[in-house]
Amino acid sequence: MKRGCTQCGECLNVCPVYALYKREEYAPKGKRLLLEQIDPEFGGSPDSSLPWEDIRELARLCAGCERCQQACARKLSTSDLLAEARARNPHWTQTLWDVWIRRAGPLWPMAGKIAMLAPDSVIPGVLRSSVETARALVDLEPCEPWMTLRPTRKVSGVRVALFSGCTAKNARPRWISNARQLLAGWGYDLVDIADFACCGGTLHHAGQLGALAEVRERNLELWRKAGKPVMASFCASCKHSLDSYTAVLSAEEGKEWKQKCVGLSSLLVEPQINPTGKAPAAVGYHQPCHWGTADPDLPLLTAGLPGLKKGTGLCCGMGGILKMSNPDLSADMARKCLEGFAPEIRHIVTGCSGCVMQLAAAGGKDVQVRHWLDVAALANSRI
Ligand code: SF4
Ligand code: SF4
Repeated sequence: MKRGCTQCGECLNVCPVYALYKREEYAPKGKRLLLEQIDPEFGGSPDSSLPWEDIRELARLCAGCERCQQACARKLSTSDLLAEARARNPHWTQTLWDVWIRRAGPLWPMAGKIAMLAPDSVIPGVLRSSVETARALVDLEPCEPWMTLRPTRKVSGVRVALFSGCTAKNARPRWISNARQLLAGWGYDLVDIADFACCGGTLHHAGQLGALAEVRERNLELWRKAGKPVMASFCASCKHSLDSYTAVLSAEEGKEWKQKCVGLSSLLVEPQINPTGKAPAAVGYHQPCHWGTADPDLPLLTAGLPGLKKGTGLCCGMGGILKMSNPDLSADMARKCLEGFAPEIRHIVTGCSGCVMQLAAAGGKDVQVRHWLDVAALANSRI
């Protein structure tokens, strides 16, 4: 039996849900107090008399940001506890979320264009945040590079597969071509694996553990068949989810997987970074929760975008199935996150596909949110 929560309260001030409501029962500590009672891993009984319908709403109040786990001395993941509770008590929204993620991806841009056509005045309040989310699927006009990256030495003999994730594949293909250019510019041997499935992070958060197992097995099989190349990801949440695959691997293969799953920017070794002078005067950086304390993008962006200001907000509230189960909470979290930027900031960059979509939806026409791959380009170089 796992040792559970000591109720120390360290997680309270990092939880974006608690930051909004200031109610302890909505904080990780409060959720654990209830849910550990029905979780067999913590000695609880799933047959407890606690009615699931009554605690479902509470269990849904989580964005899966894992900030509480990072703060917890015991490294307890409340997000995982909630995912397991959802898996044991399925709800139709979880199936719908699985369909949206794994089957409807090619339709995302069309959904965005339709949402763009709907005038604000006819959108009912209850649908507003969903429509804003759909609109964010439509890409911004490309901008001229704000910074260039040039290798000062080439890498040779390293095979790299790009794990681009669902958002890039379906709604932001430009990120993929830019990432490939950078890797090729550094001299990496690109291994083409076009049919990677979803990383599974959002399926896990939704409690769709069967779906998670399917995509994980497919991705691992493709990796093995390709001769186990380095796996580069430019999305913090995808990278976080890929890291979790070690739980089902042997110690030896898990070690290799862990070593080979890296953030794209950490492969851009010894870069010469030059601002182009095309960046707006004020640019904000939203640090994705899933980088934890090891954010490989920030040093690159700080060097290329002088005056870059990091937002002080917590999680953007993307939160996987939270978008479907509680879209208003998700949107409130995004607005709160945007409040953490100085008022003059109208341009934000980040390194997570989900954060881009979420903050773009909340920012609307006032704030432009881009992935750093939208603003950083390989310099034309001969080395
Ligand atoms: S994962 Fe994030 S939103 Fe969920 S309980 Fe922990 S801190 Fe709160
Ligand atoms: S930090 Fe960990 S042990 Fe402390 S209250 Fe939060 S979940 Fe419980």
